[in-house]
Amino acid sequence: MMVVSENKIIKNTRMLPVMEAFYTIQGEGFHQGKAAYFIRLAGCDVGCSWCDVKESWRVENHPKKTTTQIVEEANFAISQQTTIPNNKHQTPNICVITGGEPCMHDLNELTLNLQYHQFKIHLETSGAYPISGNLDWICISPKKFKPPISENLKMADELKIIVFNKNDFSWAEEFAKKVSENCRLFLQPEWSKEKIMLPLIIEYIKENPQWALSIQLHKYIQVP
Ligand code: SF4
Repeated sequence: MMVVSENKIIKNTRMLPVMEAFYTIQGEGFHQGKAAYFIRLAGCDVGCSWCDVKESWRVENHPKKTTTQIVEEANFAISQQTTIPNNKHQTPNICVITGGEPCMHDLNELTLNLQYHQFKIHLETSGAYPISGNLDWICISPKKFKPPISENLKMADELKIIVFNKNDFSWAEEFAKKVSENCRLFLQPEWSKEKIMLPLIIEYIKENPQWALSIQLHKYIQVP
């Protein structure tokens, strides 16, 4: 199948490994609290010790789907839960592409297809691989195990640092120097260290108000 937009033909040739996809509430960062459809692509070699989706790492453990299939599933899932005629605010649907490390894949075809279906497309990446695709929001969360590419950092709309220990505040500041001045800065406690790190983050943000707090809201309200 081909989708024909005004001046582009979107081919349906790329297969992407999808670990899971679901409609929920964005729990983290600048868009926290908004409804969003998540597509979690499989494949990651970054190797964070505290990773909470280790089952996403191996591509071969997950089904490959065409981009058309992925977008059809997104539209269907959202249509089951929204009442668009009453949406007088004309809020566009948000699609978050996450992983795994989604930038291990070429995202051009998927994002074109989503864009054709009027999605606002948000990317969550470690920044360790070149970013591809038409994107409305780029969140980079650097990881120590495989650092982000400098060019990616310059494109970030949001920098989200996962704080695992006290040294991570100075580590965060190193990345803050490399993003654009419009980039939003967030500190987020690593979930297993939340009780220890959250009070430290709160104090740090009070002293350094260019940073804001991101908590994993979805874990507090127990949604995916
Ligand atoms: Fe897990 Fe993300 Fe780190 Fe990959 S980059 S190991 S998916 S936390």
